[in-house]
Amino acid sequence: MQQRVTLKDVFEAQKSIRGKVLRTPLVTAARLSNRFGAEILMKMETLQPIGAFKQRGATNAVAHLSEAARKNGVVCCSTGNHGCALAYAAGAAGVKAVVCLSNLVPGVKVKAIEALGADVRRVGTSQDEAQNEVTRLVSDKGMTDIPPFDHPDVLAGQGTIGLELLEDQPDLETIMVPLSGGGLAGGIALAAKTINPKIRIVGISMENGAAMARSLCEGKPVEVEEYASLADSLGGGIGLENRWTYPLCRDYLDDVVTVSEEEIYQGMQVLFHDEGIVAEGGSVVSVAALLAQKSKANGKTAMIISGKNVEMTQFTAIITGQDVILGDTVLKGERYA
Ligand SMILES: *Cc1c(COP(=O)(O)O)cnc(C)c1O
Repeated sequence: MQQRVTLKDVFEAQKSIRGKVLRTPLVTAARLSNRFGAEILMKMETLQPIGAFKQRGATNAVAHLSEAARKNGVVCCSTGNHGCALAYAAGAAGVKAVVCLSNLVPGVKVKAIEALGADVRRVGTSQDEAQNEVTRLVSDKGMTDIPPFDHPDVLAGQGTIGLELLEDQPDLETIMVPLSGGGLAGGIALAAKTINPKIRIVGISMENGAAMARSLCEGKPVEVEEYASLADSLGGGIGLENRWTYPLCRDYLDDVVTVSEEEIYQGMQVLFHDEGIVAEGGSVVSVAALLAQKSKANGKTAMIISGKNVEMTQFTAIITGQDVILGDTVLKGERYA
């Protein structure tokens, strides 16, 4: 197997996903630009048919399956969006898919995956437990594991966002990317930095269980505890055996910041009231980081608005400033300002 994902792989992914994945618009956020005193653009991955960017990586991975692998089907564990993406991509290619989910995954995402025709297995309360079921299906049934981030085809697929950003705005100075396993940030950074090494890439995670952020601090992949978070799609570890995304994030990210649940709450509120965008917690962390002054928008800045798959009761509570129950804690409501 190859040792490194390169820009060439990202260009090939761009070809293999064309027509199957939306080439999303990069739109001006006029009010956010005003608020933060810099030109802010939003890459609207919320417009993908499954409502999140993960369709890129999953579609590229399915396109690269061998004939034998297609016959036995694909399997994955997921915090939700990758499961939707794999169910969608496999369905479109006529390949069977099984998606293993922990019980932390919100019901709205579980239903969406089932509706896309995948077989859903719910196991335990962590990504690790869901992954054990994946490992069993690989060894018992010969299915192919398409992991949510640590896979060269998945990474290259997410990296196509970086190509599109620079096609649309070659003079982009900063890219702000939600960061969990690092497929999104690693893929975008690989593409964008190879084309223009001067671009600044900022990864943003939630404080509650920031596995990549902690691993980068400690100089090696480490485990973190998982908690309920508004940014549920950023949950889960990076894998102690991480092979692809950790080195990319270590080598290419200029800065990594973390935001609290209160800050994510405000990010959702502000993105909705300023720009009219419905987005899930995991995809508003860039707004949250700017609001909290943990990061600064320098020059022309693109934010990846990575997904919109949010529980509507939670979303409406947040945009109307009400309390939100999160696991066994209550997040105090606050009005939009
Ligand atoms: C998966 C996901 C992320 C994080 O992507 P990684 O490749 O795991 O870093 C961010 N936002 C949304 C909406 C996601 O589904």
